[in-house]
Amino acid sequence: MQPVSSESSEQVGNRRLPPAESVQVDERFWRKAISVRQPWAWAIIHGGKDVENRGRRDPWRDAIGKRLWIHAAKTVEVADYGTVRRLAGATPPDPMPLGALIGSVLIHDVHHARDCDRLSEGLERCSPWAQPDQWHIVLNDPVPLADPIPCRGALGLFLPTPEELR
Ligand SMILES: [Zn+2]
Repeated sequence: MQPVSSESSEQVGNRRLPPAESVQVDERFWRKAISVRQPWAWAIIHGGKDVENRGRRDPWRDAIGKRLWIHAAKTVEVADYGTVRRLAGATPPDPMPLGALIGSVLIHDVHHARDCDRLSEGLERCSPWAQPDQWHIVLNDPVPLADPIPCRGALGLFLPTPEELR
């Protein structure tokens, strides 16, 4: 990986990120997906949610610089709409895709909450979306799918079937 250079970075929220095109992308990682409940999946692709909080690092050990499908689970977290609306500064559409791949993101960084300060330059968290005591999967360059691809979800990182991606 190339070290992050502050000279060539752009300001995103409280953090400086290198331009997405400067990150080496391994397109094979396009095959992997995570399932996220709505409206959080919408927030990742459309609402500026730039951190996914995960409890374990191991599945993400080699993920930096790779693209990841975002799968909208079939379950909706109705109680979380207010939080998402506040953090995104926008209202999720109704209805939203469920049980489908809705877009992809570039994985920019993976770090633990206790290491946030190396990105946030002294701020408590690297992003308003970041949670304490979690691994922060830092996401960048969201690309929505014009037509969501129906897909069965799974726990953790999973591989959509070739039929689903055809
Ligand atoms: Zn962080």
